[in-house]
Amino acid sequence: MKRGVCVVLFCALLVLLTVTACGIPHPESGMDTPAETPVPTEAVSESDTVEAIPVSTPVSTPVPLPTAPPTVPPTPAPTEVVERDPVITLVGGDSIEVDASFSFSDPGYFADDYLGNNITSRIQVSGEVVPYKVGSYSITYSVTDDGGRSTTVVRHVEVVPVVMPDIIMPPEKTVYLTFDDGPCSYTKQLLDVLKKHDAKATFFIIGERGNIDIIKRAYEEGHAIGVHTYTHEYKQIYKNEQAFFDDFWKTQEVIKEATGSYTHIFRFPGGSANTASRRNKGIMTRLTKIMEDMGYRYFDWNVSAGDAGGGATTSGEVKNRVVSGLKRHADYAVVLQHDIHLHSVKAVDSILTWGEEHGYTFLALDLTSPVVHSEVQN
Ligand code: ZN
Repeated sequence: MKRGVCVVLFCALLVLLTVTACGIPHPESGMDTPAETPVPTEAVSESDTVEAIPVSTPVSTPVPLPTAPPTVPPTPAPTEVVERDPVITLVGGDSIEVDASFSFSDPGYFADDYLGNNITSRIQVSGEVVPYKVGSYSITYSVTDDGGRSTTVVRHVEVVPVVMPDIIMPPEKTVYLTFDDGPCSYTKQLLDVLKKHDAKATFFIIGERGNIDIIKRAYEEGHAIGVHTYTHEYKQIYKNEQAFFDDFWKTQEVIKEATGSYTHIFRFPGGSANTASRRNKGIMTRLTKIMEDMGYRYFDWNVSAGDAGGGATTSGEVKNRVVSGLKRHADYAVVLQHDIHLHSVKAVDSILTWGEEHGYTFLALDLTSPVVHSEVQN
């Protein structure tokens, strides 16, 4: 009986082994190891993964961002132009210095908007420079573009006096003979006399007389040519500054036609001490400064021949007055005569002879000559 039990148990064991080995087949293979050590699902959760990986790792993850457009190269169009106010450029800068002169010419300016459009024509300019008057001025430039953006800039203009040559004191007994109101036909014989004595003189001319050839000859023979006036009409000339300038420049043009250049010396009609200008109060005070600031030097006189209603009606009287004056001004003398009066012209030969005998030298005026200025009366 015991042997029968053992056989039964053995057979039962065989059956059991067969079922275990083949009765529960694995879907894919019979060597699936994971089934032996199942991993808990919670052990690989996301949170656990983040904790375990360095922070930088996710950034480098080549996951394309949903906003792809930035990878497209930016176009240089609208987004690159920055809107701004118009820009005004002042040629020569925002601060300039100019010599006093008859006119002022703006060095120039231009403007553009933020798109680069030239809008210079829209610039509004305000402010005034009085070019002949030494001082400080401001000019304002404003411009507005299509979008209503505006810019304003200011230019400072400093008008300064023209630097004049230094005066060179001549040796004693220097005489500057000056002849006003010509030239005329008498001037030719005057030039002959001056040439004979190798003496030089100065002619303050009246422009409207013309006589270009005579002026030219005088200039070529070494005499000085200065502006006196074009019309000698006091009322007109001294009406205002501009009227004086106009008269002055008409005369300058005559001188340039005759000599090829403008002059820098002049004599006021009636002299700087005239009262013929009194209708315009202060005009002489202003003009004497203005003209010198602009680089023109005026000459009055310290010896008068009295040949123009001054009592010297003969050549002898003219000579006496001049000689008397030279004796009083032994350093240097500026003599006033008029070559439109024959008796005055005829006195010159004897004046020069007397001067030569007494050691005088007769020279033409220039910008280095000593000035003789009367006291301004108006
Ligand atoms: Zn005169």
